[in-house]
Amino acid sequence: MADYKMTIGGELVDSNQTLDVINPATEQVFATCPEATKEQLDAAVEAAQTAFPDWSRRPIDERKDLVRQLAAKVAEHRDELIGLLVKEQGKPISNATKEVEFTSYFAMTTAGLNLAPEVLRDDDQMKVEAHYKPLGVVGAIAPWNYPLLLAYWKVFAALVAGNCVVLKPSPYTPVTTLKAAQLFNDMLPPGVLNVVSGGDELGRWIVEHPGIAKISFTGSSATGKKIAAAAAGTLKRVTLELGGNDAAVVLDDADPEEIAEKIFWTAFNNSGQICMAIKRLYVQEAVYDRMCDALTKLAEGVTVGDGGDETSMLGPVQNQMQFDRVCGILEDTKQRGRRFLTGGEVPEQPGYFVPVTLVAEAEEGDRLVDEEPFGPVLPIIKFNDVDEVITRANASEYGLGGSVWTNNIERGQELAAKMDSGTVWVNQHSVVLPDIPFGGAKNSGLGCEGADEGLKNFCQLQVVNVAK
Ligand code: NAD
Repeated sequence: MADYKMTIGGELVDSNQTLDVINPATEQVFATCPEATKEQLDAAVEAAQTAFPDWSRRPIDERKDLVRQLAAKVAEHRDELIGLLVKEQGKPISNATKEVEFTSYFAMTTAGLNLAPEVLRDDDQMKVEAHYKPLGVVGAIAPWNYPLLLAYWKVFAALVAGNCVVLKPSPYTPVTTLKAAQLFNDMLPPGVLNVVSGGDELGRWIVEHPGIAKISFTGSSATGKKIAAAAAGTLKRVTLELGGNDAAVVLDDADPEEIAEKIFWTAFNNSGQICMAIKRLYVQEAVYDRMCDALTKLAEGVTVGDGGDETSMLGPVQNQMQFDRVCGILEDTKQRGRRFLTGGEVPEQPGYFVPVTLVAEAEEGDRLVDEEPFGPVLPIIKFNDVDEVITRANASEYGLGGSVWTNNIERGQELAAKMDSGTVWVNQHSVVLPDIPFGGAKNSGLGCEGADEGLKNFCQLQVVNVAK
């Protein structure tokens, strides 16, 4: 019997097969979860389809009220959810606390969004309106870096829009997601929210399932492309929130000591495992050395350890696969003779720990620069020419976010606008809010989440055109 259960049609459900969930700080199994069968997925889809007519016909304000109640439930069970997140994801208590608080905040804000019909034309010949109708059953597929927030952001928006949901967490981090569904179970009509746990194969079944109308996916670009291809068979709607390799460009009129802390934490928060973390730091020559020094000083003050330890500022990388990937990138960086300002040596100890690693004089062509490391490793790249650096920043298959750091806001805005990414920031980075649309350009995604725009991604647009 698994320690945590799935939620299908309002029932808590176990399975014959279980998945081990590993605490990345110890590499020990700390819980087991069910591994859903195909029949259990069918049951979840059927339950969602059965719940859909009633749920979608409810006035939107009632659905919003229920989502607000879910926010309150998360807040009420805050400590328990934080504890589980720390164990399964590895993140420090402070980070897990923010994730849980953000989950409540995202629910509240999503419940305040607007999906009212819009008048497109109203003249003496006709009145034309845009209406946004729910699609039916949404398949939501989530990653392991922010397991609770990223999974439930989809759920809140899908529910407000009038859809029912079948949600699958990452097999690395299913526990908090299953627990939250259990907490929500008696608050929602049976079948409105179903959570099934399992591996990548379960994800494939969800994408191919004829009873599912839309896939909302957050994860890697490689998986996103597979999902887009597989969804074509049933012409499912897809929203894909994918990988990133965000560039931040520091101009020579910026003050390195002043901006170092913001840049540092935007790169290293959650051990670099954030899609829109700063992953390539371009610094203009005149301030390059000062920027390197300021970041090094900050890195030296960081404690990396078990997320459950109050003194840990950063935890381990989340899983073995990701750990091996980061180690491979470090190896390539060493072979290329790059200058390590801090870190670089992975300690021989249990847990997927990687020290805070700053690499100076990294260049395009290095794996560290060209790929998404998704770990606590930051390349600092020197540049001279401002126009050229934007071309270099844009020479990436990814286009999630980008930023410019400068004392001249107008100049910053002008340069940032030239970056090929879904979001650009000036003098900040990684600021993602539920009332602001967020989505990627190029291989970083398709569609968006957040704001009214994100809600509409969970709807079928219907144009209602009435002759006068
Ligand atoms: P992943 O693509 O390996 O897995 C994500 C989810 O997809 C998991 O639940 C997995 O089981 C499932 N899956 C795997 N193969 C599938 C398939 N063929 N069909 C359907 N489902 C399948 O990603 P990950 O390693 O969990 O997450 C890390 C990646 O996510 C990074 O690239 C990161 O940048 C990206 N990410 C993007 C955003 C964003 O908003 N753009 C946010 C967080 C993470």
